[in-house]
Amino acid sequence: MESAAPIRSVRDLPIDGRRVLLRVDFNVPLEDGRVADDSRIRASLPTLQHAMERGARLVVATHLGRPDGKPMPEFGLEPVGARLAELTGWEVFLSDDCLGDASTKIVGELRSGQVALLENLRFHPGEEKNDLDFARKLARLGDIYVNDAFGVVHRAHASVHALPGLFRERGAGLLLEAEVHALDRLLSHAPRPFVAALGGAKVSEKLGLLDALIERVDALVIGGAMGNTFLAARGLDMGKSKIEVDKLPLARSLMERARERGIQLLLPEDLVIAPDPMSPTGEVVPATRVPPDQLALDIGPRTVAAFRRVILPAAALFWNGPMGLFERAPFAQGTLGIAEAGADCRGFTVVGGGESTAAVMRAGLASRFGHVSTGGGASLEYLEGRQLPGLEALRS
Ligand code: ADP
Ligand code: MG
Repeated sequence: MESAAPIRSVRDLPIDGRRVLLRVDFNVPLEDGRVADDSRIRASLPTLQHAMERGARLVVATHLGRPDGKPMPEFGLEPVGARLAELTGWEVFLSDDCLGDASTKIVGELRSGQVALLENLRFHPGEEKNDLDFARKLARLGDIYVNDAFGVVHRAHASVHALPGLFRERGAGLLLEAEVHALDRLLSHAPRPFVAALGGAKVSEKLGLLDALIERVDALVIGGAMGNTFLAARGLDMGKSKIEVDKLPLARSLMERARERGIQLLLPEDLVIAPDPMSPTGEVVPATRVPPDQLALDIGPRTVAAFRRVILPAAALFWNGPMGLFERAPFAQGTLGIAEAGADCRGFTVVGGGESTAAVMRAGLASRFGHVSTGGGASLEYLEGRQLPGLEALRS
C-alpha cells in the first residue's frame, strides 16, 4: 500500500548479539507426538538462519492449535522444538510457559547463536484477547521484535498486534517480507492479463475476495462448490449439490459486473457427479444435466481444458480454492488439472488458501509456482485490500 509507512526488514535491524523476539507460525499438525508436516517450520528457517548468522539470541514464539487460553498438553510445543533441532542441528531450549520465571531464566542464559522456544502462546487467554498486559510481559523477553508469522497477521492477537508497538526496533522476517512482496505485486501492479481461478467451499467466505478481484482481473474462472452456486445462479438445476441459495442474487450481480467490465468469466461446462461424496467413482456430465439425486463434486475434463486455455497465457495468476472434493481420489482430477495449468503457466503465479496450497503440495508442484502462500485467510484478506492488524503494527 503506497501511502503507508514502510515496514523494516529483519535484514536492516540491529539484531547482532541482541535478544530477538521472533513471532513465527509453527502451528503444525501433530500425530502421535510428532510433527506430521513441517512445512511451516521450514518456511521460517531462512529468517532463523539469518538471525543466527548475525549472532542474535533468538527467542521464538508461536501458537499451536486452539487450547483456548489454558495449558493443554496435546498442544505443547515439545515436538516442534524437537523438529526444529533436527532440521537445524541447533540446541533448542523449550520453556514450559511463555511467561514467568521459566522463560525469564532460559532467555536470560541464552548465548549468541542459541534458540529459546517459548511454550504455546495460546495457553494464556491474553494472546487471543490482544491483552496489553500479556504483551508487556512478553516484551520483557526481547530487545527487538520480528514477525515472520504471515499466517496470523490478519488476527489482532497480542503477539502480533499489541506486542510490536512495545518495541522501538521492529520489523518483518524474510518469509513475511516475501509474502507481502508477492501479494503486493498482484494487488498494485499485476502484469496483464491477470487471471484469477477460484473454487473452494463457499461463496460466502470469499465475497470480499470476489468483490476485489472482479475490479482487477482480465479473466475469472470459477469451479468447485463455489462454481456450483454460480451455475445455479445462471438458472441450472444443480441436483443435490452444495449450493448457497441465499447467495444466488449476489452471484448474479457479480456476473453482471463482470459483463459490464468486459472481463471473461468462465463457469464449468461439465462436471463430475455422484450420488454422494463417499461414492467410489464419479460420472462426467454436461453442467446442464445434473440429475436431481446427484451432486457435482468436481469439474469435468472439458472444463479443465477450457480453464487451462485461459490460465496458460496469463501474465499473472492467482488461484484460490480447490475445483472439487479433491481429498477424495475420484474427485481430485479437476484440482490437479488446474494445479498443472498453474505450474505450466509462464506468468507470475500465486496460490493462496489452506486447502489449495495443500493440493499443490500434494501434487508435488509447489516449486513450479511463483509463490505459494503460507497464509490461508491472511493472503485472501490482503488481496481484498484490507489493512491487516499484524502488518499495521509493524509500520514505523
Ligand atoms: P482454501 O482453504 O484453499 O481457501 P476452501 O476452504 O474455500 O479452500 O475450500 C476447500 C474445500 O472445498 C475442500 O475441502 C474441498 O473438498 C471443498 N470443495 C470444493 N469443491 C467442492 C464440491 N464441488 N463439493 C464439495 N466440496 C467441495
Ligand atoms: Mg480452507
